[in-house]
Amino acid sequence: MTLTEKILARASGKTRVAAGDNVWVNVDVLMTHDVCGPGTIGVFKREFGKAAKVWDPKRVVIIPDHYIFTADSMSNRNVDILREFVKEQGLPYFYDVIDDPDGHWQFDVSKGQTQKQYGSKYTGVCHTTLPWKGHTRPGEILFGTDSHTCMAGAFNQFATGIGNTDAGFILGTGKLLIKVPESMRFFMEGAMQPGVMAKDVILHVIGDIGFDGATYRAMQWEGPGVYGMNMDDRMTIANMAIEAGGKNAMFPCDQKTIDYVNERTAENGTKSEFEPVELDGDQKFIYDKVFDLSKLEPTVACHPDPGQRKLAKEMSNVSLDRAYIGSCTGGKTSDFLAFAQVVKGKTVKIDTFGVPATTKVVQELKDTQWDGQSVWSILESAGVRMTENASCAACLGGPVDTFGRLNTPMKCISATNRNFPGRMGNKESQVFLASPYTVAASALTGKVTDPREFIS
Ligand code: SF4
Repeated sequence: MTLTEKILARASGKTRVAAGDNVWVNVDVLMTHDVCGPGTIGVFKREFGKAAKVWDPKRVVIIPDHYIFTADSMSNRNVDILREFVKEQGLPYFYDVIDDPDGHWQFDVSKGQTQKQYGSKYTGVCHTTLPWKGHTRPGEILFGTDSHTCMAGAFNQFATGIGNTDAGFILGTGKLLIKVPESMRFFMEGAMQPGVMAKDVILHVIGDIGFDGATYRAMQWEGPGVYGMNMDDRMTIANMAIEAGGKNAMFPCDQKTIDYVNERTAENGTKSEFEPVELDGDQKFIYDKVFDLSKLEPTVACHPDPGQRKLAKEMSNVSLDRAYIGSCTGGKTSDFLAFAQVVKGKTVKIDTFGVPATTKVVQELKDTQWDGQSVWSILESAGVRMTENASCAACLGGPVDTFGRLNTPMKCISATNRNFPGRMGNKESQVFLASPYTVAASALTGKVTDPREFIS
């Protein structure tokens, strides 16, 4: 069996499953956020009754992160709905924007967009919060009401996005009926060359198979190249499985995975036992291809979908209006450090926005010193508009007052994961997806730029 089949077999109490089987699985963790949480709660109450209790409070994780730092009152209200539900159900894992369990969230416009406006529990983007707070474990099943839930596949976990109806059902039962996906194998050899990042790997692969090339399939990553990657790299790759239509991403579990998970579960007091699934000799794949990481170059996904692959070096004729670094895919500390490496001591030529994925990233960028200067300050000195308000922000557009949103037609190069028309705001805008290195180099020149021009 493939890694995905092994997890689904275990979770459904069977010795074997095969692609195409429909199985009921026991859910280890259900995650929801401010956009889909209220709807999920509505389904749960409608179907199970107003007084119903969730199947297991310790397995529900609620993370407000999408439309947070906005004056839009309906968005603020969504966070309050989550808080009321958490209180009613006694849920331990709620990363609230404010500290007062009886309070109401309201964004204070007078403080502006860049100054911190959250309490001590707030974390930021859900998919980056889940591993940080010790909710991702090898061999488990994670469902989330968000398509990029597949990011947790980096941890040898079956993780996928679901709708509010399924999530409401899970809240009541802890189970879900799921069709076992076929698996595709992406076998990585070699190592990435300087100037090339995990983002280039996934953009290259999606360019190969197309933005629907993995529809309802598991994307399994193997090979020595994969073991050479750190967990952030694996997360970047797993995150974008859905940009090829993938049901889930799946990485093998190695010592790096185990150390990462052990550290986070111990730090946060979350469940520490887990049982990874190991690679079998008898795996069956619907697609199997070897990639040489050392051959990859800085890659861009052009408007209007993540499969429109070009090399950055072929695009120097494309002028840009904006650069953006942020999101679950591209807003991790390692992403900002790569970006800062390129812009350090220089000045960006176009409007450039930086939105850390989590509050931990904010802290780490402020704490990391290079030549006596914090990375945060290096970024600001280069002209990057940094916000302390970690969230999804303009990755998915959001209300018109969202930090970094494309409110007029423009061309933006972005370290985010999705570029369908209107994704970051204005429908006539064009979004070019690239690595933090490429976004940084392009911010310096105002054109799509191969970052190797700035990296020795
Ligand atoms: S940062 Fe973007 S991709 Fe990630 S969860 Fe938020 S909206 Fe979705």
